[in-house]
Amino acid sequence: MLETAILDGEADPPDAGAAAREGGAEPEEPPSPEVPPLLPDPHFPDAPEPLARFLSRHFPGATQREWNDWRWQIANRIADAETAARLWRLSDDERAALARPRATLPLAVTPYYARLVDPCDPAQPLRRTVLPATAEDLRAPGEADDPLAEDACSPVPGLVHRYPNRVLFLATGFCSTYCRYCTRSRQVGAACAATTRGGAAAGPEGLRRRWQACLDYIARTPQVADVLLSGGDPLTLPDAALDWLLTRLRAIRHVEIVRIGTKVPAVLPMRVTKHLARMLKKHHPLWMSLHFAHPRELTADTRQACAILADAGIPLGSQTVLLAGVNDTPQALGGLFQGLLSLRVRPYYLYQCDPISGSAHFRTPVARGVEILRALRGRLSGYAMPTFVIDAPGGGGKIPLAPEYTLGYSGDDLVLHNYAGGLYRYPDRAGAALAARPRTGGAA
Ligand SMILES: *Cc1c(COP(=O)(O)O)cnc(C)c1O
Ligand code: SF4
Repeated sequence: MLETAILDGEADPPDAGAAAREGGAEPEEPPSPEVPPLLPDPHFPDAPEPLARFLSRHFPGATQREWNDWRWQIANRIADAETAARLWRLSDDERAALARPRATLPLAVTPYYARLVDPCDPAQPLRRTVLPATAEDLRAPGEADDPLAEDACSPVPGLVHRYPNRVLFLATGFCSTYCRYCTRSRQVGAACAATTRGGAAAGPEGLRRRWQACLDYIARTPQVADVLLSGGDPLTLPDAALDWLLTRLRAIRHVEIVRIGTKVPAVLPMRVTKHLARMLKKHHPLWMSLHFAHPRELTADTRQACAILADAGIPLGSQTVLLAGVNDTPQALGGLFQGLLSLRVRPYYLYQCDPISGSAHFRTPVARGVEILRALRGRLSGYAMPTFVIDAPGGGGKIPLAPEYTLGYSGDDLVLHNYAGGLYRYPDRAGAALAARPRTGGAA
């Protein structure tokens, strides 16, 4: 249903001739839409198995009430090879990957998300994001465990201070479901279980000492106006622990906004309770970035979780990693971005996949992201268009990449092409004069 609104056939290019007549330009050639029609994604939407049947097959005895309890979901995660083999018909590669003696990133999938995973098709997008592959063991040239050099700009453990006015606060190393392409795989899951584990199983006590060091740094660093709580997934912390942390952050005068980055609405939507929303609401201005990978994740439960957060007045943005064979088509990303708008989530960033060790099978050519945005521009609401960024290896921060729509000057006119390939001229005499001025090297 989400896709029909936007994937309904090819949008006709506007009458470029008429537009040109009004604008006084003469198109050099007839508009040639280079963009293929957006066809429905064959993987979406396929209804998951009815809940009652899924429960009786895989969690006999469990009630729907338990199912809707996020702590039950975390306690019953699919986290070992035998359980995985019972839920899914594993491919040889998945089986081999699950049998590896020590993988950096553990397997963990909430039963909720496991139900959305295709039991038979190893190529299903959601399945590829959570089930390991042996390709994770290959280290391709240019890959690193910490490609963003986060450790190098970490003044205290668990805090990354890269931009002048904002910090990334790694509140926990725990996630309810681990993404195989995780940029912080060196810090999440087993890698940090001993020090930062903060899921339902562990109380907040162990974390507080580390948190306090981060809070102290923020308190003595007045230029920090924006704190981004990330991880791991901060929403896997109990309400009381999160409330404690947000209260301490809010007590720091110069902290203007707090943001929470989470994948919970996609993988554990029952975590978003009315109680959580009431607690979060006390800490405004609070923003949230929600991690989504594919339109298949936009279920009724996810819709409800987003509604609760939006109704609490929390502005919602999304973050998506561009992944080969998962969402690297205009159909998948178009369906996701437009679908998110109907959930009141504003697509924020589309990330080029970081060159984390063992990620080559997920990485697309950089041009792919630019092409997809070009294909979507003009077909989706402007609000549905995220910024495509590369998080620069070595710690340069996020660098935006956008399709190019200008072709240069012709006389006094800037020549542009629109989303459908039509050529247009914008009278820009002053700009043409600036562009024509010879550059004198040196002083700008
Ligand atoms: C992404 C990121 C931020 C936040 O960046 P915005 O562009 O403001 O969303 C802050 N610190 C680090 C280290 C980051 O990677
Ligand atoms: S939710 Fe984020 S931190 Fe957790 S595994 Fe996925 S990408 Fe990594």
